Amino acid sequence: SPGQKPILYLEGVSVSFDGFKALNNLSLYIDTGELRCLIGPNGAGKTTLMDVITGKTKPDSGSVYFGQTLDLLKMDEPAIAEAGICRKFQKPSVFEMLSVFENLELALATHKGVWATLFAKLNNHQRERIEQVLETIGLTEHRSQLAGILSHGQKQWLEIGMLLMQEPKVMLVDEPVAGMTQQEVERTAQLLLSLQGERSIIVVEHDMEFVRSIAQHRVTVLHEGSVLTEGTMEEVQNDPRVKQVYLGD
Ligand code: ADP
Repeated sequence: SPGQKPILYLEGVSVSFDGFKALNNLSLYIDTGELRCLIGPNGAGKTTLMDVITGKTKPDSGSVYFGQTLDLLKMDEPAIAEAGICRKFQKPSVFEMLSVFENLELALATHKGVWATLFAKLNNHQRERIEQVLETIGLTEHRSQLAGILSHGQKQWLEIGMLLMQEPKVMLVDEPVAGMTQQEVERTAQLLLSLQGERSIIVVEHDMEFVRSIAQHRVTVLHEGSVLTEGTMEEVQNDPRVKQVYLGD
């Protein structure tokens, strides 16, 4: 739509593992502020695609641009993270022996090291940002609790909060609702919906009910390393090719 500019461009991206094409001439454009769902059967190439965006895997061919000028293929993983692309893996990885607040504090400046960061005094601006993030992820009341005793859902939200502390421009989120209770799934949907706009979010998810609840714009279906189709959830669901792929012929 007018006024929107792609923040991520992938064009003609191919990745081979021992001659097997995990990504095959894939092109994908993500708009600024967009919440994009990425679906597709096992082996479709979703993880490989995330790995290419974060710089973990370098493609054999194609181009990947961030914000029109940054050539991500010329950058290593830390530089790409520094530029504002961050990823949340499926399993939560929070510091269980630290409080919720301390986990967010650490996310401010992990490059300084754990102890240097925890002993440094927070300035007001940093304190406010932590408060804001606590509010956003719904853990204000749990600020002093050890992260280790949070529920699975709360740990996932805390980790999303830790990403937010880094003020990402693009967040890659891998199967955020796996293992969650129905109530946690619903809260996660609300959380992700509230986060779009200020940053772009790519969600890889198998739970179709969940995808339906957050997919307001475009859903991308991957199959055999390329984009099979893109559209609204309704369009995608009614596409006979998508049905065929999911039913396995
Ligand atoms: P998805 O995340 O959609 O399930 P993946 O990106 O993990 O798909 O995998 C795509 C294909 O590439 C799969 O067939 C997988 O076996 C293969 N693949 C992925 N990573 C590697 C690797 N490091 N070495 C060999 N094959 C791989």
